[in-house]
Amino acid sequence: MKEMADSLKQNALPGVLSLHAYTPGMPIDELQRRLGIKDVLKLASNENPLGASAKVRAAVAAAAGELNLGLYPDGSGYALKAAIGRYHDIAPEQITLGNGSNDILEFLSRIYAGPGRAVMYSDFAFAVYALATQAQNAEAVVVPSYPANHPTMPYGHDLDAFARVLKTRPDASLVFIANPNNPTGTWNTPQQIERFLDAVPPQVIVALDEAYYDYQDVELRSNARGWLDRYPNLLVCRTFSKIYGLAGLRVGYALSHPTVADLLNRVRQPFNNNTLALIAAEAALADQQHVRVSVDLNARERLRLPPLLAKLGLSHLPSQANFLTIDFGRNAAPIHQGLLERGIIVRPMGSYGLPNFLRVTLGTESENQRFMAALRDVLGA
Ligand SMILES: *Cc1c(COP(=O)(O)O)cnc(C)c1O
Repeated sequence: MKEMADSLKQNALPGVLSLHAYTPGMPIDELQRRLGIKDVLKLASNENPLGASAKVRAAVAAAAGELNLGLYPDGSGYALKAAIGRYHDIAPEQITLGNGSNDILEFLSRIYAGPGRAVMYSDFAFAVYALATQAQNAEAVVVPSYPANHPTMPYGHDLDAFARVLKTRPDASLVFIANPNNPTGTWNTPQQIERFLDAVPPQVIVALDEAYYDYQDVELRSNARGWLDRYPNLLVCRTFSKIYGLAGLRVGYALSHPTVADLLNRVRQPFNNNTLALIAAEAALADQQHVRVSVDLNARERLRLPPLLAKLGLSHLPSQANFLTIDFGRNAAPIHQGLLERGIIVRPMGSYGLPNFLRVTLGTESENQRFMAALRDVLGA
């Protein structure tokens, strides 16, 4: 057996062999199966607690009834790209659709990462950057984050350090920045990002991952559209998985220079978005009222919870996203387990090197009340 496993791995690329598969938030079914709990609340994957808007669900239902599912989807994503183009005031030639924005991150690594090339990202950044880098056998240059005791942005991306490290790495081909970052919730100001972009040589591609863009306070939102004209090496990633509530359908997109979009298109599989996903995303983009309602709910809950956590003696990392990463000051695994036993799934942070933290997606007001009650119970407070 051992010998067979060895030969099956013998020709696998070293980067792939060194990978640990991404651990997603536990699915609701799994907790139901494992503990026999019926009423499970999942606050583990930063999904929109309101789900997709009613208009999107109606559009999908109508389409599903009429469509010939035997036909391939529109591989060019013509209608969705046109809608995204209008939304951002950008040409369709500068838009690439992905099967989730995760797809885009992988296209980038396939184009720009490989042996002899360095890919840069922050400590405590989104796990997919490390996976995409390693799978391509490229060198990961992990820039230290701001320290845990930083006065305003503990564990945040230190973009001045990025710029300093970049000067020593002529082999750098790709930089990933998550803003706001997952799993920390921390952010960089538009001024910090712009200062970094000014320092980056033109052949280094900067991927600015804005999965949580809409959740930010208005004054912190980047002007990525304006930057694209000034920085041809910038690529901006957005997703329909978070604020639009379409995580189950897998749609994300990149805005970039047409030359980069052309390269992305070469590595993209021809039909990477399915027909229903294309229809749903277009309907979601058209329903900005649902975005506003979702943003407002999140902003309210993001303000409401911290004082309640403080009453329990708990702090959390600064967040401009739809989750709070809570510091328990000790190994949080037993607390994670206690919450599971009460039917609540949150995200442990041990795999990110933050074993004392749990990341909790902000739910609806009543969901968050249930979470807080369970947390008090677990802590014996
Ligand atoms: C959730 C998330 C994504 C988006 O993932 P999809 O593949 O679009 O579902 C991308 N980047 C970050 C930082 C995220 O947290």
